Amino acid sequence: MFKQMETDALEQLHFFSDPSTELRAVIAIHSTIRGPALGGCRFIPYSTTEDAITDAIRLAKGMSYKAALAGLPFGGGKAVIIQPNGIKDRHALMQSFGHAINSLNGQYITAMDSGTLVDDMDDIAKHTSYVSCTRHMGDPSPATARGVFAGIRANLQHTTGNNSLKGRHIAIQGLGHVGFSLATSLHQAGAHLTVTDIDEHKMFQARQQFGADTCKPDDIYDINCDVFSPCGLGAVINDSTLPRLCCNSIAGSANNQLDTPATGMQLKQRNILYAPDYVINAGGLMFVAMHYQQLSEAAIDNKISGIFDTLSDIYLDARQSHQVISDIADQRAEQIIQRASSDQFQAA
Ligand code: NAD
Repeated sequence: MFKQMETDALEQLHFFSDPSTELRAVIAIHSTIRGPALGGCRFIPYSTTEDAITDAIRLAKGMSYKAALAGLPFGGGKAVIIQPNGIKDRHALMQSFGHAINSLNGQYITAMDSGTLVDDMDDIAKHTSYVSCTRHMGDPSPATARGVFAGIRANLQHTTGNNSLKGRHIAIQGLGHVGFSLATSLHQAGAHLTVTDIDEHKMFQARQQFGADTCKPDDIYDINCDVFSPCGLGAVINDSTLPRLCCNSIAGSANNQLDTPATGMQLKQRNILYAPDYVINAGGLMFVAMHYQQLSEAAIDNKISGIFDTLSDIYLDARQSHQVISDIADQRAEQIIQRASSDQFQAA
């Protein structure tokens, strides 16, 4: 376990157990150097405790990088609650988790993630103030979609010299909370859409509302388009899909889109511009973090629009240095965290 922590430069790893509510939770805090660690809480089944720990550590590190590149005064953390077989009392379990978070005195702030609901955040909030995504805040997905929209424009600017959506062809994989909201904005901006989802009804809605073309889930990789936007699953850019792609660039909300870091190099070799996932999908984190700081909607919107500039700057750097785009994003995030660490050391 220590080896795993050292490999990912993790600051802290906490375990909480409360047999009376069946709570078994892991909270991984990657970094608090730039501020309290902010990151969602997963509530899903895990085959082994090791899987839960690995998930928490991997995701916590990603949150640190995302907050750093988004310029937010937060570090990265993630919680996983191992879902028991048949939940006896979900309210009691979440409230127990609220106590656990509170015992960390604000070093970790939780939020919604896979398997957790607004109701869970409300239960957690009964025992700690270190929680976001409660009922009064609302769904961050439209903010994520606004960030992806800004990112698609940055990709078009870089690949064609023009960021207008008019007449552009965008292929969207996944019409969920983010994908559908994104499709709405792209349609309004004059783009032509090809979309897919495993849910037939969502495809029907897209045909009706946006005049979108639809295809079978596996056929989306073969669509000849300007931008491919993965908004469903992770690891969709891999050895079997990459040779099929007929797009100039990739810009979507899904987390961990590349199956391995080496895929970033293969995209470069194929001259496909890739918007690093944790940069382009940071709109939701910006929404959550800045709401938590009680900042205005205008300030949040402004921050989300800035994703265009952040990506454009990374692309320029990649063009000049001939480096892989995803490597540049990682290096920049690491430098920001390292700089904050040095500043803290000098101040002490
Ligand atoms: P969601 O669950 O609402 O939507 C996912 C959609 O993908 C669903 O409609 C689902 O039916 C569809 N889907 C599943 N398998 C598919 C397949 N094989 N082919 C095509 N479609 C498929 O999730 P979401 O909140 O819209 O998030 C989408 C992605 O963006 C996820 O990877 C998520 O981790 C990431 N993300 C979301 C947010 C946010 O604010 N919601 C923020 C950051 C990252």
